[in-house]
Amino acid sequence: GTEKPRLVEDEEGGVLFYTAAASSGYGLASIEKQRQRLPVYKYRTAILYLVETHATTIIVGETGSGKTTQIPQYLKESGWAEGGRMIACTQPRRLAVQTVASRVAEEMGVKLGEEVGYTIRFEDITNNELTRIKFLTDGVLLREMMDDPLLGKYSVIMVDEAHERSLSTDILLGLLKKIQRRRPDLRLVISSATIEARSMASFFNTSRKRQGRDDGEHVPRKEPAILSVEGRGFNVQICYVEEPVPDYIRAAVSTVCSIHDEESMGDILVFLTGQDDIDAAIQLLTEDSHSRKQGLIVLPLYSGLPRADQDIIFSPTPRGKRKVIISTNIAETSLTLEGVVYVVDCGFSKQRFYNPMIDIENLVVTPISKASARQRAGRAGRIRPGKCYRLYTEEYFINEMSADGIPEMQRSNLVSCVIQLKALGIDNILGFDWPASPSPEALIRALEVLYSLGVLDDDAKLTSPAGFQVAEIPLDPMVSKMILASNDYGCSEEVITIAAVLSIQSIWFSGRGAQKELDEARLRFAAAEGDHVTFLNVYKGFIGSGKSSNWCHKNHVNYHAMKKVDEIRQQLRRIAQRLGIALKSCEGDMKAVRKAVTAGFFANACRLEAFSHNGLYKTVRSSQEVYIHPSSVLFRVNPKWVVFHSIVSTDRQYMRNVITIDPSWLTEAAPQFYQQQQLKPRPH
Ligand code: ADP
Ligand code: MG
Repeated sequence: GTEKPRLVEDEEGGVLFYTAAASSGYGLASIEKQRQRLPVYKYRTAILYLVETHATTIIVGETGSGKTTQIPQYLKESGWAEGGRMIACTQPRRLAVQTVASRVAEEMGVKLGEEVGYTIRFEDITNNELTRIKFLTDGVLLREMMDDPLLGKYSVIMVDEAHERSLSTDILLGLLKKIQRRRPDLRLVISSATIEARSMASFFNTSRKRQGRDDGEHVPRKEPAILSVEGRGFNVQICYVEEPVPDYIRAAVSTVCSIHDEESMGDILVFLTGQDDIDAAIQLLTEDSHSRKQGLIVLPLYSGLPRADQDIIFSPTPRGKRKVIISTNIAETSLTLEGVVYVVDCGFSKQRFYNPMIDIENLVVTPISKASARQRAGRAGRIRPGKCYRLYTEEYFINEMSADGIPEMQRSNLVSCVIQLKALGIDNILGFDWPASPSPEALIRALEVLYSLGVLDDDAKLTSPAGFQVAEIPLDPMVSKMILASNDYGCSEEVITIAAVLSIQSIWFSGRGAQKELDEARLRFAAAEGDHVTFLNVYKGFIGSGKSSNWCHKNHVNYHAMKKVDEIRQQLRRIAQRLGIALKSCEGDMKAVRKAVTAGFFANACRLEAFSHNGLYKTVRSSQEVYIHPSSVLFRVNPKWVVFHSIVSTDRQYMRNVITIDPSWLTEAAPQFYQQQQLKPRPH
């Protein structure tokens, strides 16, 4: 047992804790000293006590206080990983899983993948016998439930970054609450930077009436404990712009330049919305570097960043230099960057938005919430007092920014979510105990699409075998269905390659200014059938070159991305074989490939408007206006009928990754979904 610290109980039965424990720290290795200097260290005993005595412990603490890297180690040190059990720590973001796992392995002096490992989709760096602490995305843990519904190998599951309220985190929380009832030995730790700790606690409070304090030793208390870790952030001075800025990328770049010219040393962290923004900003900054920007090290940070680039981000800034890290939301709370003194906040982030009425989900650049803005500012106060430059007005912050963000559950397409719950045997989806209820319209839409995909039957149960097979493939159900269909059309090799490419962000090497060259390179591979077939051409070229990095460089293809595609492809082939799909090439019969794509993506069918000279399409389902994205090989070609993979919106809604189809395939693929009527030419 753990030593009992002093506890103070609050009104609602949550437990708040004061601390005392101080550390002597003489004669310890420096990494050990660093660990003891972190704010959570003072709460070590308390955390261990609470975890031992409560089924659920909620820990709130500022970013950088040591929650993610330390708590799993404390748990292990106090025996939670003994007897073959494991400690899991989930993160919403893949990049955070990787960097945190490697940091913890380093602190423990072990090789990553042995005692400390991680798993993200298509990348499993763990060892069945050795791994005791496992970092993983919440999505991967959900998948593990399919094989092991009670997650029996874990003694403690720490759901980290719960405040992000990602779709998978929320599903996971709902399911863990169910599992707890069947596994009194399981402990949950829910940790986050800022959270509505109370509402989370009441979600997990399964005790009807308050229990006495003298419960049996082995029965944990059912009311969650709440512990709040006092951070030691420094003050951050907030600076606003006086007038709204017309272009936040340019504004961010010029702010960075003036910080570099006028302010004392210290790294700069810039928040932009996505890789395209980040590339554009880096280009502007590096253009300038010869004249004024001596001593500036400009680094991008976004998910999908190659390993070597990740390491540079975390390495100490050389003397006399200043790092500028240009990041997506990922640096808001998931990663701690030492040395940041200045933050530049553009006020936006890219978020998923789903409208069930028109059945379109897209990524939209959206204003952030006040809570996010405060988090971002907080990143400047890590090592000494810092400054945060907000590229919006104070008036806007006060009067227009919403207080909190909307949980992803309430702004997502729920097709994946529903199929996962169904696969776990949860049939009453509407009645599921959600941390935040999704809209019934979105659930109904999801059920409708899954029914048309042949994944659910009339009773909304998974069909056998198709439904179970689709659930088994760790991809979006529409992509999984496309792979299943490829078996019928004899083109599984091709379709698996397409699925692998669609599962990564981009295979093209973007940035550094060469848009024209990139377009030319793309044309070399362009196929009249569309982007999916173009991917096949690129992959063929890559394999033909002997997977050469030189070849990639010459063709503006991202070498790391292609290596990843190749790896994912191998894994998908293994999964396909396990599901009884014959690995077969259609030897150039692209009609087969297009039919397989249609079998998965029929819901995304669009028709070019007759008399449209500017490439206006309408979705067949809901008559939404969409255009082909300029990055597509079909941009300006504008074939009459297409299906798309995804939508991005900026000034308009753009279809990304588009392929031509024959409308008769739609009724073939999904007779219930499309009536003949919809596919006839409209009268004008
Ligand atoms: P929290 O989860 O509370 O935000 P972390 O456990 O991630 O905090 O970080 C605690 C400390 O560990 C940070 O202050 C940072 O100094 C250090 N740290 C975390 N990740 C890394 C890394 N990848 N490289 C170097 N130091 C790191
Ligand atoms: Mg953390």
